Amino acid sequence: MKNNEFIELLCKECKNQNVDITEEQANNLEMYKTLLLEWNEKMNLTAITDEYEIIIKHFVDCLECTKVIKDEEKIIDVGTGAGFPGMVLAIYYKDKKFTLLDALNKRLIFLQEVVNTLKLDNVEIIHGRAEEVARKEEYKEQFDASVSRAVAQLPVLLEYTSPFIKVNGKCIVMKGDNVEDEVKLSSNALNTLKLKIVDRFNYNYMINNEEYNRSILKINKIGNTPQKYPRNYGQIKKKPL
Ligand code: SAM
Repeated sequence: MKNNEFIELLCKECKNQNVDITEEQANNLEMYKTLLLEWNEKMNLTAITDEYEIIIKHFVDCLECTKVIKDEEKIIDVGTGAGFPGMVLAIYYKDKKFTLLDALNKRLIFLQEVVNTLKLDNVEIIHGRAEEVARKEEYKEQFDASVSRAVAQLPVLLEYTSPFIKVNGKCIVMKGDNVEDEVKLSSNALNTLKLKIVDRFNYNYMINNEEYNRSILKINKIGNTPQKYPRNYGQIKKKPL
């Protein structure tokens, strides 16, 4: 696909999903896509390599978060991988600050290249495990919101993400159509970590006659994270909240 065709298609698909996008944002996402496919030849960044699927399953999917992000300014993507949703949102919101965190360093080298090429000055990249980084004073309860996609089941994910968030901040969680089951499993995690689900946004898209039903949960942090959390990885794995 030629660059301008990709940009046109991206704008059209955003419009279909009621996502506002400017030409500059679409141009920058196109550059991100080019780097993603280039680097994907050398390292495993994404299993999605068809450009139309990148538009839908990566870019438009991540941009659905814009429907629940409001005045949050300092946002952390926990388990960002190749930058989803954090890098897409950092490209979209130049006026918000994004911290992209992952336990796997090699993908972060790719993300640094995206930051350099697109000259993004609103992105910080951190290598580490969420449950360890969140205990450090400079990251603990410092963010207005977290975002995350495809990282862990909700009770585990909330233990990874909520310690980063200030009281009254939000955990924004992207999930597939099994979200209801995960929410049912999460009442203990929500209570223990002082969280309350305040909004749920459902959306869907079709690719090759296959329908994808997806949800974004917006969860409010109503009190400080108890000192004990997050626990270490072994404890979280052995006994999820
Ligand atoms: N969010 C990206 C996406 O939707 O394409 C990546 C999803 S990938 C399936 C899960 C990512 O979460 C991996 O890159 C993994 O290294 C990271 N991850 C899992 N547990 C983590 C933890 N405790 N701390 C930091 N990163 C973690």
